[in-house]
Amino acid sequence: MAERGRIKKLLEQAEEALGMNNRVRIVLYPMKYKVASVSLKSKIIRINRNFVSDFDDKELYYVLVHELIHIKIASLSHGEKFYEVLNRLFSLDETEEIENGIVKKLLGAGISTKKWLT
Ligand SMILES: [Zn+2]
Repeated sequence: MAERGRIKKLLEQAEEALGMNNRVRIVLYPMKYKVASVSLKSKIIRINRNFVSDFDDKELYYVLVHELIHIKIASLSHGEKFYEVLNRLFSLDETEEIENGIVKKLLGAGISTKKWLT
């Protein structure tokens, strides 16, 4: 499946950017609202297989970085520590632009939620 190779490549790039080793697994999984979620315990990132092809590389990369940061800081919170790491890779403007693009695509698919990422 082509998407798998694309995700794997983006995951490697994201892990490298965050200085992480290759310990994270990706599972493509159907979800109703979420684009992605993460399990800190099993180090598995779930990507919503229903949306994955709608997102471009930049958006998928952003989503992977987001979930990897949770694993890196060993926390699901979006506190100071989370944003300190995120903002090393994405400026606030970039973050806003990418998130708005993703939300627009979700709305286009009839999905209105603020909790599209874990
Ligand atoms: Zn999160």
